[in-house]
Amino acid sequence: MRAFNRTVLAVHAHPDDTEAFCGGTLALLKNKGFRIVIATMTPGGMGSVDTNEEETGKIRMEEARRAAEVIGAEYCCLDQRDGFVYDTLQARVRVIELIRKVRAGIVFTHLPFDYHSDHRATSTIVEAGTMLSTLQNVPTDVPPVDTTPLLYHTEPFGNTDPLGRNVPDPSFFVDVTSVFEKKVGMLSQHTSQIALMKRMFGIDDFFQDMRENDEQLGVQAGTSYAEAFWQHLGAGFYNDPLIQEVLEEYRR
Ligand SMILES: [Zn+2]
Repeated sequence: MRAFNRTVLAVHAHPDDTEAFCGGTLALLKNKGFRIVIATMTPGGMGSVDTNEEETGKIRMEEARRAAEVIGAEYCCLDQRDGFVYDTLQARVRVIELIRKVRAGIVFTHLPFDYHSDHRATSTIVEAGTMLSTLQNVPTDVPPVDTTPLLYHTEPFGNTDPLGRNVPDPSFFVDVTSVFEKKVGMLSQHTSQIALMKRMFGIDDFFQDMRENDEQLGVQAGTSYAEAFWQHLGAGFYNDPLIQEVLEEYRR
């Protein structure tokens, strides 16, 4: 297997996405000695019932920072606008610069056919940014990385695509039972989302919903709680099964 830097960069659209979709796996990777960097494309400024966009973004970035701290990860925001994430030159360059600054060896992002439009846009931006991260002619002063990072996609909530259909089976599951309470500890930092989930989706218990989601994946994986991953294997990307091997004892 090629050598990849032991830094995992998770880039998702909104504060709480990373925690919900791969927080357990990041906790396991941290225990294995990886540096973990969590980035959100947006500060999540639309996610409120009683504060304006700017105030909401500030609250949610602080929640995301505290959630990252639970597993000893770093957090940053790429300053796109919640609900209006577009695949632009500026957005791609922000992602490329971050990949380069943290010298990422592994990148996690949403699935290309996630149900949420911000998630799909983020997936496209991150895929392109990962591919471009080694190329010297990218319009930025941050020097390129030596090796194209490995790219993995995380689960869309409920495992459904924009048409409500189930997405194809993942490349593998990670058994997160042993770190599940840690994952709940990360999600619990996002207290501002409890009222919003109730208003938008009639969800009474945001955390219980996440618990049931991971239990459902656990049923498929043959354990109590699981997270799902799809390795990006499109032409031009490496197919080294690094995460699968590092997390061998948790892989299902
Ligand atoms: Zn999201």
